[in-house]
Amino acid sequence: MDPRKIKSRATFSPSCNSKKQKTDFSSQEALPKTGETGKSAVEYDFNKKRVRILSLGQDFEEKGVLYWMSRDQRVMDNWALLYGQHLALKHRLQFHVCFCLVPQFLDATIRHFGFMLKGLQEVEAECQALNIQFHLLKGEAPTVLPQFISQNAIGTVVTDFSPLRLPCSWVESVQKGLPEDVSFFQVDAHNIVPVWETSNQLERKIYITQDKLRGKLADFLSEFPPVVKHPFICSKPCSSINWDEVYMWLECDRSVPEVTWAKPGTSAGMRMLQDFIQNRLKMYAEKRNDPTVDATSNLSPWLHFGQVSPQRCILEVKQLSETYPQSVDKFINEAFIWRELAEHFCTYCPHYDSLEGAEEWARTTLEIHSQDRRPYIYSEGELESGKTHDHLWNVAQKQLVKDGKMHGFLRMYWGKKILEWTPNPEEALKIALHLNDKYELDGRDPNGYVGCMWAICGVHDKEFDERPIYGKIRSMVYESLKRKFNEAESVRYLAGLVITTSNATSGEE
Ligand SMILES: Cc1cc2nc3c(=O)[nH]c(=O)nc-3n(C[C@H](O)[C@H](O)[C@H](O)COP(=O)(O)OP(=O)(O)OC[C@H]3O[C@@H](n4cnc5c(N)ncnc54)[C@H](O)[C@@H]3O)c2cc1C
Repeated sequence: MDPRKIKSRATFSPSCNSKKQKTDFSSQEALPKTGETGKSAVEYDFNKKRVRILSLGQDFEEKGVLYWMSRDQRVMDNWALLYGQHLALKHRLQFHVCFCLVPQFLDATIRHFGFMLKGLQEVEAECQALNIQFHLLKGEAPTVLPQFISQNAIGTVVTDFSPLRLPCSWVESVQKGLPEDVSFFQVDAHNIVPVWETSNQLERKIYITQDKLRGKLADFLSEFPPVVKHPFICSKPCSSINWDEVYMWLECDRSVPEVTWAKPGTSAGMRMLQDFIQNRLKMYAEKRNDPTVDATSNLSPWLHFGQVSPQRCILEVKQLSETYPQSVDKFINEAFIWRELAEHFCTYCPHYDSLEGAEEWARTTLEIHSQDRRPYIYSEGELESGKTHDHLWNVAQKQLVKDGKMHGFLRMYWGKKILEWTPNPEEALKIALHLNDKYELDGRDPNGYVGCMWAICGVHDKEFDERPIYGKIRSMVYESLKRKFNEAESVRYLAGLVITTSNATSGEE
């Protein structure tokens, strides 16, 4: 691969770094190009550690290759799609991409489905431009894939990886239901270090996983090859997708509206990344925990839906290591270490969303303190509509309902207070997960399960001095927040505008 070409394809530089040429991401044209520069996936020395063999069929022969896209909903910077094309090019085969859409998914509402469908429309358009067939299949993969595979003479299936229960069960059922002659591969396209390379078991001591992640970063943080225009074209055109009809077909909760601050799709996500690097990265180390300052990346929705690759974010942010060393380190710590720790936890802890998943000391202390008198008890409805005695909590909750986003620092406080204001820890966890997954645009994510488990049952945390209700779980008190940031300003800020940067940048094309 010619590294200069790859670099020019995917690099943008913020205006603050005058040595580097600035690329404008405000138009589709300026996006990192797929298919035009660099060598294709077939000439690329693909790191096989990213791939798991789920089943091996016969030789490739004349049959096509299918990437069953599930979690990583993007064309560029997607190791699973790249591996699919790598196989198809190597064996001179047709290449298809499909997405299996279900009408309901966990607590997802139209806020989430709308964001996802618009992102998939962009995937369809990009695939078309690259001579790759994109198919939207309605129904669960185990039901709809077998028929698709036989009708389209598919010999190899590649899929991406999610540690969550339902997607794992789909992969397992598909694996069981595939004809014997079809090969099935899984590629971790969401993590920089594939989860199975980090560890093959749950490590309760987080420093073990953190050290492993740090140690393996250099092996996996490589540039992506481009997706090329596919030369082996299918004779049968794929059916066109009526996205309006698909939208109406969904059976999800439509009472939670889509948000306007976050535009769906890879192009908008890449613009948000550029905006972060240009305007907010410089403040990240110092101000990321202050809700009155817009200093974080706001990238979580695009990362959650796989519309932007975390690896791409790290590659781009890392280019400013010399200019903002502390901020770059902190960002890598959040977007790589803490994010991949959450992936690790959900992969290896079957009880990632219940008290059973907490460590023994945490379960014991919560049990001992579950009878403690709570000064305030609120119902789920009161919490959902932000009707507590605590202004800051209410305004954060209302922002969540309205904008699908709560500042990271307030999420911690929010979760802790749910533990304090509900009858017992089981109820607290249930409510926190439900509100998180219903309203956060980035909800139903390993980060969300681990975030709520951290707040309520001490996952990835240590034991603290014993206090009422919390026991040895870390507590957060309103008074201490005031020492960290101006609480009145925070309430005003959150109640008024919310996410100014995003309004200004990710929105209008
Ligand atoms: C109670 C609670 C619930 C949460 N729910 C979710 C959720 O549903 N979805 C979600 O993506 N994150 C969740 N988080 C983690 C974190 O708060 C968000 O990822 C972050 O606020 C997203 O904003 P950002 O993209 O601007 O973050 P930035 O600070 O810019 O961080 C960049 C990226 O790093 C990752 N990251 C940041 N903080 C964490 C963290 N603490 N743990 C793991 N990864 C992190 C995210 O992918 C984030 O997008 C939760 C945390 C708590 C305490």
